[in-house]
Formats: sequence, C-alpha cells, structure tokens
Amino acid sequence: MDYTRTLSFKIVAIICAVIFVAVILINTYPLFTTQELIVDSICGDMLQTANIIASSLSGLSTLENEKISAIMTILDIQDSERIIVTDLYGEIVYDSTSKANRTGYYLLLPELVCALSGQDSFYCQYIRDAFESRACVPLYNTDSIIGAVYLYEYDAYQGSLLVSMQQNIRTMTLILLFFTLLITFFFTSVIRRRMKKLSAAIGEVRAGNYSHRISIRGRDEVGEIAQEFNELSGRLERTENLRRQFVSNASHELKTPLASIKLLADSILQTHGMSMEDMRDFLGDISEEISRLTRITDRLLTLTRLDVAQTSQLQPVNIGYVATRATRMLTPLADHYRVTLHCETADNCIAMAEEDGIYQIIFNLMENAIKYNHPEGYVRVISYVRDQQVYCMVDDTGIGVPESELERIFDRFYRVDKARARATGGTGLGLSIVRTTVEQYGGRVWAQRREPEGTRFIFTLPAMDKEQIHVFD
Ligand code: ADP
Repeated sequence: MDYTRTLSFKIVAIICAVIFVAVILINTYPLFTTQELIVDSICGDMLQTANIIASSLSGLSTLENEKISAIMTILDIQDSERIIVTDLYGEIVYDSTSKANRTGYYLLLPELVCALSGQDSFYCQYIRDAFESRACVPLYNTDSIIGAVYLYEYDAYQGSLLVSMQQNIRTMTLILLFFTLLITFFFTSVIRRRMKKLSAAIGEVRAGNYSHRISIRGRDEVGEIAQEFNELSGRLERTENLRRQFVSNASHELKTPLASIKLLADSILQTHGMSMEDMRDFLGDISEEISRLTRITDRLLTLTRLDVAQTSQLQPVNIGYVATRATRMLTPLADHYRVTLHCETADNCIAMAEEDGIYQIIFNLMENAIKYNHPEGYVRVISYVRDQQVYCMVDDTGIGVPESELERIFDRFYRVDKARARATGGTGLGLSIVRTTVEQYGGRVWAQRREPEGTRFIFTLPAMDKEQIHVFD
C-alpha cells in the first residue's frame, strides 16, 4: 500500500504539523515578550535618568557647558553611554563623550523635536544582538522649556542574554522534536503492526477460515476490535458448522425416502408377472415415502421462512382458544393411537403473537404427545397466567425423553429413537419449528420429565394486560 495513504503516515503528518506550529511559537513568542520587557525596562530607566538630569539642570538660567559639567560631576551618572544637553534650538551645549565630542553642533533627531515640544520621547531598536536606545526629555526653567536632555545607550549585555536564551530554546526544541518524532514513529509502527494483524485476520475469515482468531493484547480500542472480531468469527464458525450440519442432515433425510422409492420402483420393474396385490403394496409404500418427503420439505420450508422472515404484525392471541382448536383437530389422531385428550385453559391467556404460529406450536407439541404415547394414555393441555407470563403446558403419559436428551430434542433433525420416529412419520424438525416460533414471539420453551412416566413441554410468552387488549378492540 502507498505509505502516504496509511494510518501511521497520517498520524505522523498530523503530529509533525502540530510540532511545527509549536516549534515556531516556542521560538518566537517568549523572545518577543522578553524583548518587549527589556525595552520597557530600558525605557523606564533612561527616562527616569533623563528626568533626574533635567530637574538637576532646571535651576540654571543659562545653559553653559561648565555649569552643566559641574552638575554632571556631582550627579555622577554612569548608566548611560552618552549624555547630551541642547538648548532650545537643538544646539549641543554639553556632550558627555570625549571621543567625537559634538558640543556646538546641532542635534537633528526626531526625539529632540518631540522633547522640545514638551514631550518625553524614547526610541529603542534591537539590532545586531544589542539594544540601541535613545531617550530625550524637555529641560524646564520655571515653566518654560529652555532645552532638552538626550541620553544614548548601547546595551550589548542584555542583547547577548536574549541571544543565549534563543539558543537554549532552539536546542531544547530540537531535543524535544527528536524525542517526540522517535516516540511517534515507535507508536505508529506498533499501531500499524496491530492493524496489519487485524486486516490479515479479516482476510483469513473472508477466505473461509472461520476458526482463525487474533491474539492482540491490550485493552485499548484495537484490543477491543480484536476481541469483537474474535467473537464475530466464533459466531460465524458456529453458524457455518450448524449450516453444514443442517445441509448434511437435510440431504441425508431426503436421501433415505428417495432411496426407498428407487428400490421399490426397481423391484416393480424387475419382477416379471408381479401380482396386482403385491404391486398395490409396493405402490402404497412408495406413496408413504412420497408423503414423508413432502412432510420433510414442507417443514424445511417452514424453518427457512422462520429463519429469514421477520414476524409480521403481531396481534393479541387467545392461547386457550387456539389450544381448543388444536385439540379438536387432533382428536381423530388421538383416537387412532387410543389416547385421550384434555384441554384445561384459562380465558385470560392472551399474548402478542400470530394465531397460525401459536396453532403450529400447540399442534406440534400435542401431535408428539399423542405419537410418543402408550395406548390408553392421555395428553393434557393446560394454560394459565402467572407473573405476567402466559404458561402453556402439554403433558403426556408417553414413552418420555431421557434426561440427557431433553435439551437436544429441539435441535434440527434430532430424534431420540430414529426407528420409532420413522415409524410415526417423524421428521425431527417439529420441535425446532416450535422453539424458533416461540422465540420469535419473545418466549421460551423447554421440556421436563414427568414422574412416573411421560414428558411435559412448557412454553411461556409475555402476557397482555386487559388495558393493552382494549387498544386492539
Ligand atoms: P419428530 O418429527 O421426529 O417428532 P420433533 O422435532 O417433533 O421431530 O421431535 C424430536 C424428537 O423428540 C422426536 O423424534 C422424539 O424422539 C422426541 N420427542 C418429541 N416429543 C416427545 C414426547 N412428547 N415424548 C417423547 N419423545 C418426544
């Protein structure tokens, strides 16, 4: 992959941009503020000194070099490099420097013009690592301006302090930059490695290797994604196994009646002069196998529909009413097996469901209870409401289910006794349809052994209050 499109490149680029801005700020802002502070302090000092000189000279009626020199000697000001006193016209009457003394010359500076008009003025510039400053204040005698005091200072010391500060900041930022980039590269390479692991794992699962798991330690976001991924691939693996098992079971179940049909048909074809009676027997068997095939495909279709489709509009369903209807429909079958049916249902057993779905649940449970019963046994359907749940129980006095198989009988194609199930026309799909349908309505179904014999199937659904039912009236 193009490195500029990678996550680590983007992180490094963002961090570099942030560092760049930070470096510029660190290298300019403190220096500017320090520079301003120094200038302020120089300005205060120089104007103060100039004003002291001006007030010391204010007693002079005429500005003469000797008199000023005498006062300057007394004042003994050593801070300023050069002190100049001018008269009202800007002519220099005193110059503290001996080298290039400009006494008698005119001082032509904007600061002087400003001071002679009655205002203190100050100018400072930071040039060639030094502060060059000029301050000028008016010189009064009584209330009138008679001249100006001008100070000049060249401060290389403070300038050198500023330079060394600048160098220190630069060195520090370079060190900081180096370590930040080092750490950033380290972390991005760690993230990159983990991301690569994630995408490799996704590739494995996409290629069909559902058993692949990622081993990423840590509880950060990447760790969480890895954990989620492992759970997802685990679920995919389970679903895939179930699907494979389902397909293999379904093909096996479909193959058995087909093989019987082929065998029976071949027998008819290969037996010359078969009697009409034998022929009818064989065709009867073929017809039974075809009915079995039809039952299996019908139930498979029902299960597929349940797996794929969402429940349509749910309605309040009276469980007692549906149980009575199922009992009525199953009476001929019960008579055939010499089993008695009892239906004891309360009126208030109402749940949000679909009537056909509830009918299918109760019908399947009762049909099993009849098929796996003993002659002269009974099947009893009871329903009641408790703790805002509708309970519906189907009890029988039949052959029972071993304790260890009670959970497995709800699996697709699972049958406790295959031979008996075949004899009764069982497909092993009835209870899976029951469980899937009950769960679609937000309920639960399970089986219990009954003592001394028989089985009890119980399903529960959230019960509806009277007020809720009125809404649908
Ligand atoms: P089948 O079509 O084979 O009856 P089911 O899914 O309805 O398929 O039932 C699965 C298995 O559970 C049955 O084959 C049978 O062995 C067992 N079973 C179901 N109901 C009962 C019952 N009331 N008494 C005893 N065994 C039962």
